[in-house]
Amino acid sequence: MDRRASQFRLDNPVLAFRFTATLVDRSGEAVERLATPSSLATWFELNGFGTPPRELTEGDLLRARELREVIHRIGTATATGGELDPADVERLNEFSVGGAGHLTLEHGRATWCLPPRRWVDSLFGVIADDAVRVLGGQSRTRVRVCARPECHGLFVDTSRAGTRRWCSMNYCGNRQKKQNLRASAR
Ligand SMILES: [Zn+2]
Repeated sequence: MDRRASQFRLDNPVLAFRFTATLVDRSGEAVERLATPSSLATWFELNGFGTPPRELTEGDLLRARELREVIHRIGTATATGGELDPADVERLNEFSVGGAGHLTLEHGRATWCLPPRRWVDSLFGVIADDAVRVLGGQSRTRVRVCARPECHGLFVDTSRAGTRRWCSMNYCGNRQKKQNLRASAR
């Protein structure tokens, strides 16, 4: 495994939610994994989008975080039955419309083709598209907030019973179990 991957949580199968997980433990002692433009470039690379055709800027980083938080707020409202903020919805749609990427079949695999001159905006568009599909499609009733209070991560519950509690059993499930054990030992 690419050792740079260890700084990110890449275990969420939903791209848009994997993106929101770049702010780790957001309701506890939050850790910002998109700390620099180059960490954003690394995240893109590790998620299969290749190397950016130009150096990323602070502006790109700020927009990335903006998109991330918009998705997280809409996702949280969707999971908890809250009202969606119209300003967030408008912003998400703008990110989606701003993309110019195309999904193409390359050697039998679905691959995003992003125009080099609008590469970053198109990639934000891909992530926004994914969020719209998950939060506005059939899976919207299966969107959940992780039950480990510090995490507040989003996930789609694909279990048959619809009773999954953690964004990741390996990560949050195990941490929560250890915490419970410690609490009961006291
Ligand atoms: Zn979690």
